[in-house]
Amino acid sequence: MVRRTAIGTRVVLSALIFATVTGCGGAANPVTVDNVSAPVVTTTVPDPAAVGANELGLVPVLMYHQVTPTPVGEYDQTPEKFRAELERLHRANYRPVTVADYICGRIDIPAGTHPVVLTFDDSTSTQLRFDADGKAAPDTAIGILEEFGTHNPDFEPTATFYVNNDPFAGDGRALPWLAAHGYEIGAHTASHANLASLDSTGVQRELVVNVRAIEAAVPGYHVRTMALPLGIFPADHGLATAGSWDGTPYSFEAVLLVGAEPASSPFGQTDPAGVPRIRSGKSEVDFASAYWLDRLEQHPDQRYTSDGNPNKISVPEHLADELNPRWRDRLNTY
Ligand SMILES: [Zn+2]
Repeated sequence: MVRRTAIGTRVVLSALIFATVTGCGGAANPVTVDNVSAPVVTTTVPDPAAVGANELGLVPVLMYHQVTPTPVGEYDQTPEKFRAELERLHRANYRPVTVADYICGRIDIPAGTHPVVLTFDDSTSTQLRFDADGKAAPDTAIGILEEFGTHNPDFEPTATFYVNNDPFAGDGRALPWLAAHGYEIGAHTASHANLASLDSTGVQRELVVNVRAIEAAVPGYHVRTMALPLGIFPADHGLATAGSWDGTPYSFEAVLLVGAEPASSPFGQTDPAGVPRIRSGKSEVDFASAYWLDRLEQHPDQRYTSDGNPNKISVPEHLADELNPRWRDRLNTY
């Protein structure tokens, strides 16, 4: 499991590097599968101009629901379609990062590659269930992702799962498994509530009960981001980001929407209180994943391209004004 050791090291180092500058909640949740004592390797970072680095470019945040041989809802898709999308992303040099790492600017991927954020809503057993050996079943979203990562070691599988209470058909192994394997667990309310239909106490109760359940299932875990059920805000939009109920406060670093365009760079003018997502479902419809991946390939200058150096934000000189001033110390123009 050398792969896991490497990522564990990266998470811890990133936390040390970025905790003081992002205001993003400090340390990332540690990956616990393996030890994190691998030596620090210093690699040579290429010239940003040579790789066309643009760390103020757009980032696709893809939204998945069920991965099932018999998709019913428009947001569901077959395992074959999901596999084909992973192949397309890999071919186009995308590398997955979690929502928490995206929003906090912890985008540590090789020079010339592009971040993509994979998100899964509703914690169904089509996303994760276990076979008789206790492994992720091969036809689940996780099983497919893990197998893809095994065959493509440069595509480290990670994603963010927005879960409700009693997630993954109530299998108590699921949340600890996700956290231990470097996946992010985010809030999606206790009962998949339409938050616009609740009063402010009801909104905060839904979120606190959900966060408490996740954090109780994974001791030491801190829930950092949330996705709005149905993409619907509560009447008081601010309660999607922060609030408290029954003496327990919550505060999210990002709130995710449903639809319908790529997200801005975390170093630009992105709004953490409303991060857009791109749907990936059973049909190729306008403004879904195939549409936007095509558009970004046709306009490569608009896409986020990494410089390979997580300490620098490399952009062409003419784009420097788009940088959010709080990141000024890391700006590197060419
Ligand atoms: Zn949902």
